[in-house]
Amino acid sequence: MADVVVVGSGPNGLAAAVILARAGLAVEVYEAEDTAGGGSRTAELTLPGYRHDVCAGAHPMAAASPFFRAFDLPAHGVELLAPEVSYAHPLDGGVAGLAWRDLERTVEALGPDGPTWRKLFAPLVRHWPDVVDIAMSDLRRVPPGLATAIRFGLRTVEQGSPLWDIRFREQVAPALLTGIATHAIIPPRAITAAGAALLLGTLAHVGGWVIPRGGSQAIPDALIAELERLGGRVHTGHRVDSIDEFADARAVLLDLAPAELLRIAEHRLPARYAKRLRRFRYGGAACKIDFALSGPVPWQAEGCAPAGTVHVIGTRAEAMAAEHAVAMGRHAERPYVLSIQPGVVDSTRAPAGGHTFYTYAHVPNGSTRDVSEDVIAQVERFAPGFRDLIVARNVITAAEMPSHNANYIGGDISAGAMTLRQFAFRPAPRWNPYATPIPGVYLCSSATPPGPGVHGMSGLHAARHALRERFTIRTDPLDLLRTPAFQHR
Ligand SMILES: Cc1cc2nc3c(=O)[nH]c(=O)nc-3n(C[C@H](O)[C@H](O)[C@H](O)COP(=O)(O)OP(=O)(O)OC[C@H]3O[C@@H](n4cnc5c(N)ncnc54)[C@H](O)[C@@H]3O)c2cc1C
Repeated sequence: MADVVVVGSGPNGLAAAVILARAGLAVEVYEAEDTAGGGSRTAELTLPGYRHDVCAGAHPMAAASPFFRAFDLPAHGVELLAPEVSYAHPLDGGVAGLAWRDLERTVEALGPDGPTWRKLFAPLVRHWPDVVDIAMSDLRRVPPGLATAIRFGLRTVEQGSPLWDIRFREQVAPALLTGIATHAIIPPRAITAAGAALLLGTLAHVGGWVIPRGGSQAIPDALIAELERLGGRVHTGHRVDSIDEFADARAVLLDLAPAELLRIAEHRLPARYAKRLRRFRYGGAACKIDFALSGPVPWQAEGCAPAGTVHVIGTRAEAMAAEHAVAMGRHAERPYVLSIQPGVVDSTRAPAGGHTFYTYAHVPNGSTRDVSEDVIAQVERFAPGFRDLIVARNVITAAEMPSHNANYIGGDISAGAMTLRQFAFRPAPRWNPYATPIPGVYLCSSATPPGPGVHGMSGLHAARHALRERFTIRTDPLDLLRTPAFQHR
C-alpha cells in the first residue's frame, strides 16, 4: 500500500514524489493523460520526426531552481543546452534587442540604455542565488539575502509602476524588458509582471534560458526514472474523479488547479474554503501553434537567429496595448507572440534540414479562436518569407487546452491569474497555502507559491509540509535530494 499518493505528473507533482520517495516512503503517482510530464511534455505534433514541446519550451527556472539544482538534472542524463542569446526582441526597421548570456555584451549592444541595463541587472546577477531564493520561496519567510531582497523589491516596484520608463532613453531596452514581463499574461506594467521580468532577466545572464536536448520531456523523464529507482510508480491514463479513491494513503498531494481540487473533493471541503477556491480567478490564456519548417526563421534583425526565445510584439507600448485587450476579454489585433527555436542548439528536434518552431499567442480566457494567421502575420512582420517555410502546423486553442491538461482552465497556462493578490495568496489566503482543510491532503501545483514555471518548487514546499506533518520527518527536502542513499526506514 502507498504511504503517499500524488495526483498529476507535472514537474511539481514529480518533484514532490521524488522527495517523498527519497525519504523512504512508498509513492504512487496517478496521471490522467496517456503520457506523463504535465506541462513539460514533448510530442510529434505536426509530422513524424518533428518533436514539439507541447507546453514549456525554455527552462531558465529548471536550470536555477533550488529543487532542480539539488536534484542535478545533468547527473540524471538531461543535457541543458544554453543558446548564446537567451532571448531576442525584434522591432520594425531590422533592429532587435538581444539578451546575450554575457551581461556586458548585452550592455554594449543597447547603446545609450546599456548602462541602465547594467544598473538594473548587474547587482541581481551577482547575487542570483538570493534572487532565486526570494522568487521561488513559499513567500512565508523572511528571505535570507535581505540586501538583495531590497534591491529586487525596489526594481520590481519601479518596473511595475508608471515610473517604468524613467531610466530609459530609447525604445529597444524597454521593449526587451517588456517582452519578458509579458510572460505573466497580464498588462506588463504590474508588480507581478515586473517581478517575473527581473527573475527571468537575471537568469538570462546567469545559466541562460536553457533548452533540454531532445525536448522538455527529458525533465519529467529524469524525475520518473529516479522515482522508479526508489520503488515508486507512475500510473498514466488514470483520471482521478474523487479524493475518496485514496482514503488509505497517509498523505495525498494534488498537482491540480483549484477547480480540479473542487471537482474531486468538494464534498469533503468546508464551505468557506470551497467558496475561496470558487473565487480563485483564471487569467489570460494561450493559443499554442507549433510549426514544422523547411528552414530556419529568416529574421531580418541580426542576432535573432541564434536566440533560443524570440518575443514577437514590437514596442513596449504595443505589448501594453495587446495585453490590455486580452485582459479586457478581447483578441488583440496584433497579439503578443512568444516563440522558441530549439534548433539553434538542438538538432534532434527535426529531420535533417527541417526545423520546429514553437509559438503561442496571448488570447482571452476560454477563446475558441485559431489565431495562427495572426501569429504568422506577426512573425512575417519581423521575418519576411517565414510563411513560405511552413510545411505543417498544429493548433491548440485556449479552449482546447484543458483537453490535454485539466490544470489549464480556459487555456490559462499559469493555473490562475498572476495578480498581486493571487501571487501571494495562491490558491486562498492561508498561512500554509499547501495544506487543504482535509487532513493529509496537500495542494502542490503551480496554483500555490511560487506560481507557474518548470521549477518543482511548489512540489518541494508541499512535500516539506507533508513530511513534517504526516511522517514527523524534519529533514530539509534539499538534503534528501543531495544524499541519494538517504533512507528513513
Ligand atoms: C503553452 C505553455 C507554455 C509554457 N511555457 C513555459 C516555459 O517555456 N517555461 C516554463 O518554465 N514554464 C512554461 N509553462 C508553464 C509550465 O508548464 C507550468 O507552470 C508547469 O508545468 C506547472 O507544473 P505543475 O506540476 O504545477 O502542473 P502541470 O505541469 O500542469 O501538471 C499537472 C498534471 O496533472 C494532471 N491532472 C490534472 N487533473 C488530473 C486528475 N483529475 N487526475 C489525474 N491527473 C490529473 C494533468 O494531466 C497534468 O499532467 C508553459 C505552460 C504552457 C501551457
